[in-house]
Amino acid sequence: MNKSQLQQRDREHFLHPFTDFHDLGKQGTRVITHAEGAYIIDIDGHRMLDGMSGLWCCNLGYSRNEIADAIYEQLKTLPFYNSFFQCTTVPSIELANALAEVAPGDMNNVFFTGSGSEANDTNLRLIRRYWDLQQQPDKRIIISRKNAYHGSTIGGASLGGMSGMHKQFQALDYIEHIQQPYWFGEGGEMSPEEFGVYAARCLDEKIQQLGPDKVAAFIAEPIQGAGGVIIPPQTYWPEVKKVLDQYDILLVMDEVIFGFGRTGEWFGADYYGMQPDLMTFAKAVTNGYFPLGGTMVSDRVAEVIKGKGGEFTHGYTYSAHPAACMAGLATINILRSENIIENVRDNTGPYLAKRWAELADHPIVGEARSLGMVGALELVRDKGSRARFDDDCTAGGVCRDMSIKNGLVMRATGDTMIIAPPLIITNQQVDELVEKARRALDDTAEALA
Ligand SMILES: *Cc1c(COP(=O)(O)O)cnc(C)c1O
Repeated sequence: MNKSQLQQRDREHFLHPFTDFHDLGKQGTRVITHAEGAYIIDIDGHRMLDGMSGLWCCNLGYSRNEIADAIYEQLKTLPFYNSFFQCTTVPSIELANALAEVAPGDMNNVFFTGSGSEANDTNLRLIRRYWDLQQQPDKRIIISRKNAYHGSTIGGASLGGMSGMHKQFQALDYIEHIQQPYWFGEGGEMSPEEFGVYAARCLDEKIQQLGPDKVAAFIAEPIQGAGGVIIPPQTYWPEVKKVLDQYDILLVMDEVIFGFGRTGEWFGADYYGMQPDLMTFAKAVTNGYFPLGGTMVSDRVAEVIKGKGGEFTHGYTYSAHPAACMAGLATINILRSENIIENVRDNTGPYLAKRWAELADHPIVGEARSLGMVGALELVRDKGSRARFDDDCTAGGVCRDMSIKNGLVMRATGDTMIIAPPLIITNQQVDELVEKARRALDDTAEALA
């Protein structure tokens, strides 16, 4: 089939995730056919530096045959067995142990799922089970943040704070959303440091308003990913820690994007010095080679749910799928043996920070921020007032298309351009990324003029 035949069949039968079906029908899809290293290649042979690691998952790029081989060998030996009914498999035991080794502090227990959304649903179940076993059944409410992303199942989307999603389903009624630490968009006249404290105090205010005896947990991404790579001011997490230390409330950190090295530490919790009770992971755990997610559980929570007896009536057919677990083991093995995360922390991360910051001088860039292997650009018409080009934030989409044309995959969240390149990117490829991003900005400025 040629490209237009493929696009037509795509249009006729394939309902894509997070897609305007009507628009997609008009425009036609980009057919991606190959990938190597940090690059993807489409059906026309157009080669693009993948500034998004697939969808935040291919942290080691696309050419790691060790992972593919590990999956294939497992599929030939034991393609599937479940871990219900007192059964287990060797890969799932090994991965659970490897995860306990790399996870922060006393996060020594893992519940496996097939995705990040499922893992956040699992968190809802674990949180309730924990408080029930603690004889505190009134602790029911979970506090999350506006513009958070926690997945797209009903549980995940309820935890998330994306207004566009909330308009299309009925959210669970025991989840409350507070101010996000998005200084550029919402900090107003405050300094970033003041705003970080303010956003954290909003958590305290909400807990007091609801009553600490009613609040079960606070869930947050260390840095909001899909919301627009919102790197909180440095004052934010220390202040959140102070707030949480006053109350008996569980902390859930959703590490689906920042787990496995994106900050230059193994987890965002390590980077920010936080000790979560539950920690969601997915995406990069298998380098995108196989679907897998899960939640890490601290000893404090595990002692209660393991210690008091009675069945935890929750699980998925593919919890701890053996081939997925082999993909996870192979990925962790590479991250460790090649010092990939240390290299981000000491070498490529600081280099990206330096080069990315140069984009702040571009006439349509209001802020250029980065941390580890993520970055964002705020597109503005006016730098001083941070005014956008229009109310619908259409500049982002224009810039994304220009970027792809110039051979770089950047994503747009409204008028915020975001990148999350593979952790294996070299400094030379960082130069290529920044040059292509600058060309995309030039083309965008010209198109919007
Ligand atoms: C992607 C994502 C999820 C959802 O993971 P899926 O595997 O798509 O279900 C949850 N939380 C965060 C922070 C994510 O980025």
